[in-house]
Amino acid sequence: MNSSSYRQQLLNTLYAPFKGCSGCHFNMPKATQIVLGEGNPNSSLLFIGEAPGREEDLQGKPFVGRSGKLLNRIFDAIGITRNDVFITNIVKCRPPNNRRPLSQEIEASKPLLYSQIKIIRPFVICTLGSAALEGLLGKSVKITQKRGKPIAWNDITIVPAYHPAYILRNPQELQTLIHDIDQAVRLSKET
Ligand code: URA
Repeated sequence: MNSSSYRQQLLNTLYAPFKGCSGCHFNMPKATQIVLGEGNPNSSLLFIGEAPGREEDLQGKPFVGRSGKLLNRIFDAIGITRNDVFITNIVKCRPPNNRRPLSQEIEASKPLLYSQIKIIRPFVICTLGSAALEGLLGKSVKITQKRGKPIAWNDITIVPAYHPAYILRNPQELQTLIHDIDQAVRLSKET
């Protein structure tokens, strides 16, 4: 058995209690289903977004709506695919009306996220948006000041980046997001 399938087996075991969960574990009664994450569990690069939106809630996969399509275009531009990385969110179920997750929702989701991190053991985590970064660091941050500046965190390098939804509203920042994701990719190959 190679280590990739071993990690996938560990993830499957981790996920088993949540199969069929429609948000009740995380007090999100309006969610259709939990969105755990997808990609290569053997990757050295983990992306963490904020929370599933409408499309992700329906499909059960992270970043498959408008933000996800932009992320795919950025991956294309950099020359990677979604199968080269692992993608998840700090909060696993869609908050009502896509509102920003509350701090207690982030806290409730953290044990599952930390278990995913322990299994995948990425060298680099690229956080997309301030909610993911604040969740990991446990404090509020100004993403405009933190983006693009690597942070050492528990033997992992965090590369903070803007959320793709922010770029959809502020397309002039697209190159900044491409730059930061490219930096995360390069660092994940160096470490
Ligand atoms: N926004 C996120 O933060 N995560 C998703 O999965 C989709 C949109």
